[in-house]
Amino acid sequence: MRCQEKGERSRTIARASSSLLTPHSLPYAKRTWLFDLDNTLHNASAYIFPHLGRSMMAYIRQHLNVDEAEATRLRQNYWKRYGATLLGLMHHHGTDPRHFLQHTHQFPDLQPMVVFERCLKAMLHRLPGRKIIFSNAPLEYTEAVLAITGIRHCFTTVYTIERLRFRPKPAIAGFLRLLRNESLDPQSCVMVEDTLLNLKTAKRLGMKTVWVSTSTRQPPYADVKIASVLDLPKRLGRL
Ligand SMILES: [Mg+2]
Repeated sequence: MRCQEKGERSRTIARASSSLLTPHSLPYAKRTWLFDLDNTLHNASAYIFPHLGRSMMAYIRQHLNVDEAEATRLRQNYWKRYGATLLGLMHHHGTDPRHFLQHTHQFPDLQPMVVFERCLKAMLHRLPGRKIIFSNAPLEYTEAVLAITGIRHCFTTVYTIERLRFRPKPAIAGFLRLLRNESLDPQSCVMVEDTLLNLKTAKRLGMKTVWVSTSTRQPPYADVKIASVLDLPKRLGRL
């Protein structure tokens, strides 16, 4: 019921917003949407991130032969310094990224852990333009989440950490690789993300940016802020 109501409301708003296009809005069909995955298209904080946190701690303890306190310290330190535990492990311990990702992204039963809105697919179908997944997550996990949410066919291609050559967002290298591979002009792209730092890079490159967040902050490099990705069609006129 909620989906139906939301769908009708969004269609009305999308029709209305088409007449509110500003001179800076991109032509709808010429946009390319770059969608983050975790905490943008589904709620990873509920079950998946806590599970990953435990798996990463276990991996560090086992493979670096350290106790719980040292594993916590290393993980926090690398997260703060590099934006990803994996990068710190690669730089300082020679960790094989594929080995790390394979052993930390093990989900005995992923399906019930993926929390998402049932209207997600309908919303993506309504958004005009090409859509690409741009995620720091590994490929196998990303494909599994897209299959569970039933939205894989909405995206023309999928960029994951392997395809970014283990140089995750917010590093500009991954952005440039994607833009070059897909022959994209950054000014025709809209990046949709929950991680603010990643939007900063997108904005620097000239992309439009959408921050999926319930925060009250209004950072200058977020063109639009929405509480849920389902609200995207309402804000087309600003993008
Ligand atoms: Mg995210």
